[in-house]
Amino acid sequence: MGKGLVDPFGRTISYLRVSVTDRCDLRCFYCMPEHFHDYTVPDNWLTFDEIERVTGAFATLGVSRIRLTGGEPLVRKGLPELAGRLSALPGITDLSLSTNANRLAQDAQTLKQAGITRLNVSLDSLQPRRFQLITKGKLGKIMDGLMAAKAAGFAPIKLNMVVMKGINDDEVLDMVEFCLEHRFTLRFIETMPMGETGRSTSDSHYLSLQTVKARLAERYNLLPSIMDGGGPAQYFTIGNTGLRIGFITPISQHFCETCNRVRLGVDGTLYLCLGHEHSVALRPLLRAGISDRELQATIQQALALKPLQHVFNNGHSQVMRFMSMTGG
Ligand code: SAM
Ligand code: SF4
Repeated sequence: MGKGLVDPFGRTISYLRVSVTDRCDLRCFYCMPEHFHDYTVPDNWLTFDEIERVTGAFATLGVSRIRLTGGEPLVRKGLPELAGRLSALPGITDLSLSTNANRLAQDAQTLKQAGITRLNVSLDSLQPRRFQLITKGKLGKIMDGLMAAKAAGFAPIKLNMVVMKGINDDEVLDMVEFCLEHRFTLRFIETMPMGETGRSTSDSHYLSLQTVKARLAERYNLLPSIMDGGGPAQYFTIGNTGLRIGFITPISQHFCETCNRVRLGVDGTLYLCLGHEHSVALRPLLRAGISDRELQATIQQALALKPLQHVFNNGHSQVMRFMSMTGG
């Protein structure tokens, strides 16, 4: 068995996204089909021991960066404990978290101590009423969470705004000003046709970020930039402000050729691409007593399934699972 994870197209996989729950305490209309009030962990989800074991196998194979995501990771009880265990794994140099920040005011300090360094926070609107319409949540709680994260010393804190035509595209400039004020990095995201809600959102509210970029360029001096751990975003700095803004454009300009990631679903399914169903079920193997070597070999073989690129742009969503299942 050779070392490392290289797919059939020569891409080295160094990044694993781990979904720790498909539940959420918000309900963004483009993401969540229904509201789960029950946060108990079903038997078919990976336990913390199992997540640690799979992550350890990936680390042995050369993966150094992990992102915890979901659903909303902070609704999974004991998440800081899991974070502490993963950040201590040999080979893991970067542990980050995607969150809606709804519970961050109480959790920020503990998460930082557990070894999470970087945060991505969803924020689609700065207007309380609109934020409530999009997410069913309260903007004030998110702001408290963001300020607690800042005080706890997370760096960078990246805000992710899904830009939707007729919903929040008039707030792009406000969001830039907000990030300038608070020194947050800002990333704009195009809607993707995931699940049924995603399909209809993407059909009726999709806005190419090329349009947004052009609009911003009229107002600001956008200088091409790069960002460590920046992922698929194309970054610019705004003049000499130091503010970085990124554009994540899976539809208008896909970035599949540089893809370095795979995803572990909450039920232990290893997904090779966000935009395809190609997957391998690891949970049954873990529970049948697979050895560490066999687990590593299974992960390496799974890479043969990684497709060249997603199929979001062909007019048909071929991905019926929701982002919250795979981990966005
Ligand atoms: N709950 C956390 C959060 O909101 O950041 C983590 C999980 S969420 C699924 C991760 C990211 O996926 C969020 O930034 C969210 O806006 C984005 N997302 C969800 N569904 C999407 C869709 N259909 N198109 C584009 N982005 C989507
Ligand atoms: Fe929850 Fe995040 Fe999905 Fe919004 S985007 S419903 S916060 S999982």
